[in-house]
Amino acid sequence: MSAGEGRGFEPAVHVEPLTLGGEPYEVRPAAVPVKLDVSRMVGNGYALRLRFDATLAGACMRCLKDAAPQIAVDAREVDRPGGGEELSSPYLQEETLDLASWARDAFALALPAQVLCREDCAGLCPVCAVDLNEAGPEHAHERAPDPRWAKLSELKLE
Ligand SMILES: [Zn+2]
Ligand SMILES: [Zn+2]
Repeated sequence: MSAGEGRGFEPAVHVEPLTLGGEPYEVRPAAVPVKLDVSRMVGNGYALRLRFDATLAGACMRCLKDAAPQIAVDAREVDRPGGGEELSSPYLQEETLDLASWARDAFALALPAQVLCREDCAGLCPVCAVDLNEAGPEHAHERAPDPRWAKLSELKLE
């Protein structure tokens, strides 16, 4: 491959399961088809781009039911020998690419802060833990008595 020339690869990668908030999450499919573009830079080194879509499968962080959000990954790496740490890719060692590690790290970086079964998941009631998606918005509990009124009632007793 000569300078400036690019090449596309479409290998399949197994992305290792992740643990988020103490819960296990699987990445599907088991072999994720990825798009890998490799281009040789003028001078020396490589520019790499990795793109793929995969599903994160595990528990919804609000209601604990199954969640399987689709995650889109688009990551780039540059490796230029002698270019300093910033231009050295940790996934490329002597022309060998550690695609599995790169795919796992890029996937982890692309994850949302919260894994949800759906964007507007209502979660569980903090009082009785009923699933609010099913119980509906009118689900409520009687409030604990207001402490000010409690004091008044104490006064009445005296
Ligand atoms: Zn949910
Ligand atoms: Zn409740």
